Amino acid sequence: MLEKNREFDIEGVIEEFEALTKEAGRVQRETLRRILEENGQAEYLQNLGLGGRTDPETFKACVPLVTHKDLEPYIKRIADGDASPILTGKPVTSISLSSGTTQGKRKLLLFNEELVHSTMQIYRLSFALRNREFPIRNGKALQFIYSSKQLKTKGDLIAATATTNVYRSEQFKSTMKDIQSQCCSPDAVIFGSDFNQSLYCHLLCGLIYSNEVQFISSTFAHSIVHAFRTFEQVWEDLCTDVREGVLSSRITVPSIRESVSRLLSPNPDLADTIYKKCVGLSNWYGVIPELWPNAKYVYGIMTGSMEPYLKKLRHYAGNLPLISAEYGSSEGWIGTSVDPRLPPESTTFAVLPDIGYFEFIPLRENPREQELERSASTIHYAESEPVSLTEVKVGEEYEIIITNFAGLYRYRLGDVVKVAGFHNSTPKLKFICRRGLLLTVNIDKNTEKDLQLSVEEATKLLAAEKLELVDFTSYVDMSTDPGHYVIFWELNADASDDVLHSCCDCLDRAFVDAGYVSSRKVQAIGALELRVVERGTFQKILDHYLCLGAAVSQFKTPRCVGTSNSEVLQILCTNATKSYFSTAYG
Ligand code: AMP
Repeated sequence: MLEKNREFDIEGVIEEFEALTKEAGRVQRETLRRILEENGQAEYLQNLGLGGRTDPETFKACVPLVTHKDLEPYIKRIADGDASPILTGKPVTSISLSSGTTQGKRKLLLFNEELVHSTMQIYRLSFALRNREFPIRNGKALQFIYSSKQLKTKGDLIAATATTNVYRSEQFKSTMKDIQSQCCSPDAVIFGSDFNQSLYCHLLCGLIYSNEVQFISSTFAHSIVHAFRTFEQVWEDLCTDVREGVLSSRITVPSIRESVSRLLSPNPDLADTIYKKCVGLSNWYGVIPELWPNAKYVYGIMTGSMEPYLKKLRHYAGNLPLISAEYGSSEGWIGTSVDPRLPPESTTFAVLPDIGYFEFIPLRENPREQELERSASTIHYAESEPVSLTEVKVGEEYEIIITNFAGLYRYRLGDVVKVAGFHNSTPKLKFICRRGLLLTVNIDKNTEKDLQLSVEEATKLLAAEKLELVDFTSYVDMSTDPGHYVIFWELNADASDDVLHSCCDCLDRAFVDAGYVSSRKVQAIGALELRVVERGTFQKILDHYLCLGAAVSQFKTPRCVGTSNSEVLQILCTNATKSYFSTAYG
């Protein structure tokens, strides 16, 4: 029976958040004090001369800014089995592996009960804020979530993606129940060892519970789009399974087979309904509300590198609202949207002032030459002294620094955010991009965001031809003289040479960075090259990352492939079928 959930105090959670954000400055000092007191025994902090002081001023003076590289030796000792308090006071329960899809290399991070706690805290708050605008009833959620492979470190700690560590935690299930987000699929599907089989079964379980499903979600929006692209291929098989009550022979993992078979019984009526609805759709537009009539919204991270998937997601979602999920990382959580009605493109994230201690490095774009910071990966911004959470200014861009309960002290996250406004006294952040410089041949500097904008511009030409960009990435080819940008595109159907030539010119022209334009004009950067890859190439890239132990739940297509990422580069190059050079600069 559908009934309203009465146990979870939605208003209470929001009131608490309001109180905390009204006093963000005080709460931040208090949070820093708690972090430093709880972890005061950690060797890392002991060596920094804090002498028991926990105020932000002393903290700033004694503790250096660090990147992951600086912490690697400490994390390695923990992973290798040193159980002494190295970075945290309390024991580390497992190791998190970042997705490795933004920078090509998987980072090892600490995972502990505090992170489970903060994850549940932000899930509850996000739900409360969302539910105020889009109330759901007790039912189920069609969640495309997947665990990664779980490895054991030398010191016998479990190492898995942060999302897997969360799904494994005891609190996950009870929180999902509290926030009316119970997954349609049994655990065996989430933890299954074969991604494609898990995906098929998520879809099948979603259909079995089609009337109960209240919303559709995944961690990153890419997984939802991927799921429905797959649905287009397998929907008839799914109908057969529902009709006959027998699971397709493609499901061979015993635990998945057994648990999903238990949910199946012959249901020709449901199969007929699904079949009729599917054949009645035009190019799968609105498939989600059609098949899940009680769904109220689609939910997942849709900002940043997920924006390119929004068009397709909107197509599948029809009239259902798309709601952007929280902002965080394997390192820890940062904030959530306080206005779920905003479209993903306008979403901002209010920082939770008690989830960690945050500082912000002010960044100024296009600085004078002498101000340029010359580090290997970032030369884009001039930096100044970090400021506190309540000192940031609206309209300015910053790099986030995290200090949290999981052993990170003044850790540079590498994300660039812009302050869009304030919610009470906590800032609302707009995600801009990863800080790492993406495309550069000489004095040009183009980020992930610049690439995205250029691709968006060029895909307008595709839309006029009713063609669709499935996915894209880029590469700087320095084997030519001068070097040039290569953009790889996978399309849903064949495009004419004329259209692709125009797209190629448009891509080239749409990089408006002054360094790029001036270099192109004097041919100090060669003509931009558009390489079209065969259909299914990006699936091969996903499979490649899965083989390395990544999880689909955290997968983000790498938007620039470095020469060191030779395997992905090889997949792209061997699957390229056509190549075009821009004539935009003559
Ligand atoms: P990982 O820890 O590997 O899953 O990646 C974390 C990174 O994903 C963050 O540092 C961001 O760059 C990106 N990310 C996470 N949440 C969001 C969000 N809501 N919007 C945009 N990017 C995000």
